[in-house]
Amino acid sequence: MEASPALYVVATPLGNLGDLTARAAEVLRAVPWVAAEDTRHSAPLLRHLGSPAKLLPAHEHNEEAAARQVIERLAAGESVALVSDAGTPAVSDPGARLVARVREADFKVVPLPGPCAAVAALSASGITAPRWLFVGFLPTKAKQREEALRELAALPAALVFYEAPHRILESVAALAATLGAARRVVVARELTKLFETIHACPLGEAAAWLEADANRQRGEFVLIVDAPAPAAGDDDAEAGRVLGLLLDEGLPVKQAAKLAHAITGAAKNALYERALALRGGA
Ligand code: SAM
Repeated sequence: MEASPALYVVATPLGNLGDLTARAAEVLRAVPWVAAEDTRHSAPLLRHLGSPAKLLPAHEHNEEAAARQVIERLAAGESVALVSDAGTPAVSDPGARLVARVREADFKVVPLPGPCAAVAALSASGITAPRWLFVGFLPTKAKQREEALRELAALPAALVFYEAPHRILESVAALAATLGAARRVVVARELTKLFETIHACPLGEAAAWLEADANRQRGEFVLIVDAPAPAAGDDDAEAGRVLGLLLDEGLPVKQAAKLAHAITGAAKNALYERALALRGGA
């Protein structure tokens, strides 16, 4: 714990109490106040920990007022912890505005990392795209959802969505229609819980997989759509551009091909042939 008062942003379990970190337990026992998305939901966790902290409601509809209360407590020299119902506060949950106000008021904000459905799903997805974008919940209206997806379709990154069970079928259909039926999706449901399921398939097959067993449409979902496959022409053009630059710098053909291979990953033999052609057989 900090010597000076601080707001601790505390991640809590998604479903398995064992995922509460030792540091989260220590802070939740030590602070006099816990600002919670739903005080009724968080009260059992505090009881379980034997925490004497008092609860303050801090939900989406009172975040500004809650921020004022938290700042008053901090100004009085008392630390406050912030929790949401599950996972990391401010990730598709209230908390970001409260944190912003506390920072504006120049009080210390300390993150206590831990469970987050997006990160848990990514870590077990097997998706190797080096970049990913957290999208969270899509708009519920079809037109806005399609517009949002069109903006994302060509991004060279995996896309991470949150979805509720009653919209899961509609959403995978919209993803397949807009992002392409061939793109791979990982459906991660009920993470850390009894019926945890992680299934990968082409987007065009996801609806049928969900429909094959009604239980597969129950619970909480993360959907991760893999990055689009790079167009063959793009890779080729990039390798050619790099090779040309290296040859222009006066590098010998063999060395230019070797370096272009190291930079772009294009096949070394093909680069060598291409470099020879560019140098006019030299
Ligand atoms: N703050 C949370 C986090 O750090 O992941 C997210 C809160 S958001 C209101 C709730 C959504 O997160 C659910 O609708 C679902 O999409 C996802 N989620 C939460 N728990 C999950 C779990 N155990 N398995 C899969 N998805 C989960």
